[in-house]
Formats: sequence, C-alpha cells, structure tokens
Amino acid sequence: MTSSVDAYDLLVIGSGMAGMAAAAFAGRKGLRVVLAGSSGQSHFSSGLLDLLAVHPVAEGKVWDDPFQALEALISDDPDHPYALLGSETVRRSFALFCDMLKDLGLPYTGHADRNASVITTLGTVKRTFRVPAWMWNAERGLRDNPAALMVDFTGLKGFSAARITQTLAPRWPNLTPVRLSFPLPGPLYPEHMAAALEVGAHRATLAGMLARRLRGVEMVGFPAILGIADPGTVHEDMERLLGARVFEVPTMPPSVTGLRLKAAFEAAAPGLGIRVMNQKLVRNVVRDKDWFQADIGTRESETSVRARFAILATGRFFGKGLLARRTGVVETVFGLPVEQPGDRTAWHDEAFLSGNGHAINRAGLRVDSRFRPLNNDGLPAHERLYAVGSILAGQDWARQKCGSGLAVATAYAAVRDMLAQ
Ligand SMILES: Cc1cc2nc3c(=O)[nH]c(=O)nc-3n(C[C@H](O)[C@H](O)[C@H](O)COP(=O)(O)OP(=O)(O)OC[C@H]3O[C@@H](n4cnc5c(N)ncnc54)[C@H](O)[C@@H]3O)c2cc1C
Repeated sequence: MTSSVDAYDLLVIGSGMAGMAAAAFAGRKGLRVVLAGSSGQSHFSSGLLDLLAVHPVAEGKVWDDPFQALEALISDDPDHPYALLGSETVRRSFALFCDMLKDLGLPYTGHADRNASVITTLGTVKRTFRVPAWMWNAERGLRDNPAALMVDFTGLKGFSAARITQTLAPRWPNLTPVRLSFPLPGPLYPEHMAAALEVGAHRATLAGMLARRLRGVEMVGFPAILGIADPGTVHEDMERLLGARVFEVPTMPPSVTGLRLKAAFEAAAPGLGIRVMNQKLVRNVVRDKDWFQADIGTRESETSVRARFAILATGRFFGKGLLARRTGVVETVFGLPVEQPGDRTAWHDEAFLSGNGHAINRAGLRVDSRFRPLNNDGLPAHERLYAVGSILAGQDWARQKCGSGLAVATAYAAVRDMLAQ
C-alpha cells in the first residue's frame, strides 16, 4: 500500500438508495466516507419509501400496517434480509433516514404505523410507508373527495390526466382532467420542466393558465415537476398562486422525485464529510487485513483511495452489481459467491406473470447476521466488508414493495455494526 492515496474510514461502493443511505448514516456519525458510483435506480424510482406492502407475493396480499406485514414475513421467510433486522431496527432506520431527508430540505411524511396511499401515473393507488411531503395532499383527496383538478401537459409523454381521473373515478369522482401547454417551448422532459418551475415568473404563468378553471376547486394535482433543487418553495408558491392545495403524482422514469433525492444528498455530502465520486465506478479493490485499496474511475483518469471499512451497495442487474453469464450469475466487484438457482433453466417461471415471481429475482449475496457477505465456506468474506440493499439474496423487492426500505434499513444496520467495532 502506498501512503500517498487518500485514506477514509469507509468506502461505499454504489450510489443508489442503499449507498447514499449508508454514506449519510456514517457521515452523520463523523466517519470520513468516500462514495463512488453512477446513476442508480433512484433516477428511475418514484422516490417513494416502501417498507413492505405485499406478503405473501403468491397471494398478492396488500397490508395496511407494514410492521404487521414485517412480522408475518419474518415468521414465514426467515431467509429474507428483513429477518436479520427485526421491526425495531427497521422502524429506527426509517425514522433516522426521514429526519435526515428533512434536514436536506426533502421532508417525507406518512402515518405512524400504516401504509399511506399514493396515486400512480396509471391512476392506480399504491401503498407505501413514507411519501414526499408534496404528494401527501393526494391521500387526503382520496379520503375526502374534494373538487379538484388533475393537470397534464401537451407533449409530456407517459402522463395522462384523463387516464388518471378515469381510473380513479370510483374513488375520487370530483377529480377533473385539465390539459395545458407548458409555458416554455421545446420538448418536454420532467427534469427540465422541474428546473423551469424554479423560476417564479414561470410559476405565475402556469397559475395564470389555470385561473379560469379554479372556481370551487380545493386541490390541484400536477405531475411531479414542481422543482428539483428547492421543491418546498415551488410547492408553497404554487399553493399561494392557485389558492388551492397542491399535490404531485409521480411521472414515468426518469423521475424528478428520485433526482431530488440524489441532488439533495450530493449537496449535503461535503458537510457530512462524504466525498462523492460521481459517475465513477470502482474498478479494482485490493484487500488486506487492515485496508481496502480501490481504484476508482477509468484507466485514463483513475483515483486510488483506501479505507478501513467497505460497504458493497452495487444493486442487482440494473445497477450492475450482479452480472448474468451463461454459466451463472456473478458479483462484479469482489467476485463474491452469489446464491442462485442451480441451473439457468430454473431462473424463470414459465409463466411471465407468475404470482410467485421468478427465482432469479431472489438471487444475490448471502450475508451473516452483521451483513457481511459470505465466502464459499459460509464465513464472512472479510471482517470489515458489508453488503446492503438490493444485492442481497432472498428478497424480491419489486413484488414485495420493499425496495427503498430494504436499502435504508440494511444500510443502517451495517453502519451501526461498523460503529460498534
Ligand atoms: C422504475 C423503478 C421504480 C421504483 N420505485 C420504487 C418505489 O416506488 N418505492 C421504493 O421503495 N423503491 C422503488 N424502487 C426501488 C428502489 O429504487 C431500489 O430498491 C433501490 O434503489 C435499490 O437500491 P440499491 O442502492 O440497492 O441499488 P441501485 O439503485 O441499483 O444502485 C446500485 C449502485 O451501484 C453502482 N455500482 C454498480 N457497480 C459499481 C462499481 N463497480 N463501482 C461503483 N458503483 C457501482 C451503480 O452505479 C448504482 O449507483 C424502484 C426502482 C425502479 C427501477
């Protein structure tokens, strides 16, 4: 090991929800952290924080109380990563994470012990645990049915107010679609629209376009385009200009709500002692008893860092933490053993929409009770290496609706273990 490379307490590999959460938990505790990764699923995610909504997946049973669902899951499926945590740790991790998000200017809200209801792009209602504060009015709308407008924009693909209101009609008959032309010319992408609405004059123009439609209206819904860097100000100003409560509905990916999380994290990182190496991948890690030394970036522009602890948060196939080869699934950074079906033919159920899901979706890294990935002998691969988030074996986050919750709670548990060392 050379002494010229920068030294850190913790190297976080991966900058999706799990990596960001791990870095933030560690940074808040005063650890020096370096985090590397490129865009994770959070750019595509709706930004909702699911804890657990569905169990068992084969029955598609949707739970009102995520903690009751968690108890049932842990009892039925002791191999699920949530079983290593227990309710109290999950509860604590969410509370701390939401406190952090609030400090970053991204308040999330929800019920104490109940999943909230949010409207999706399709007009269906999804159950989730914590929602961005700017979506919260929709929950009241679904309950109280006030007269309301649902806005969409000519040229914004994948978001139709007519479809949303039609699908929601049995639950919210007083929600009426309105189509507007966005106040600025050019092709419409949610992130560009969100940036445009950070300018007060554009908000005033938009509100003016709705003025004729507002009589008797208590609420106005928009696609999630109300600002990226400062959504609080945009939301508040739109409510003032419209004289109505405003709510957002997630758009198709790329999602502004996911981008907001990323932007807020990156803005806060230096203050938390976190060095973010954005759009850079860890190419090679050498481990010895005391250090992890990692080469980050491309061969032409490479940085070497070393750290006493490492957290692997590289996600699954989409994030590129797992790679499917003809001979099987491999883990891409350390070459750790991946728990997977014995044979490729067993990866998928014959029925694409099988209620049980597909075995390949539960493939991943098996960890010990401290979230250290196991080697082929079933022992921790390294004393100070952890694995968190969707790369873990034994879960099917998309069907169980537990994606962000699993990322946050396992990141919290790994950092807590590290701090205890
Ligand atoms: C379309 C969509 C909608 C979703 N909606 C929701 C939702 O509504 N609610 C919810 O709770 N969850 C949702 N999720 C899921 C949630 O976003 C994921 O569960 C969560 O992002 C998993 O996070 P992760 O950090 O484990 O993995 P990922 O987000 O995949 O992140 C993996 C990271 O590892 C990095 N990486 C990989 N290899 C390397 C390397 N060699 N070096 C450095 N970095 C590397 C990648 O660049 C990436 O940054 C959604 C996901 C998608 C795709």
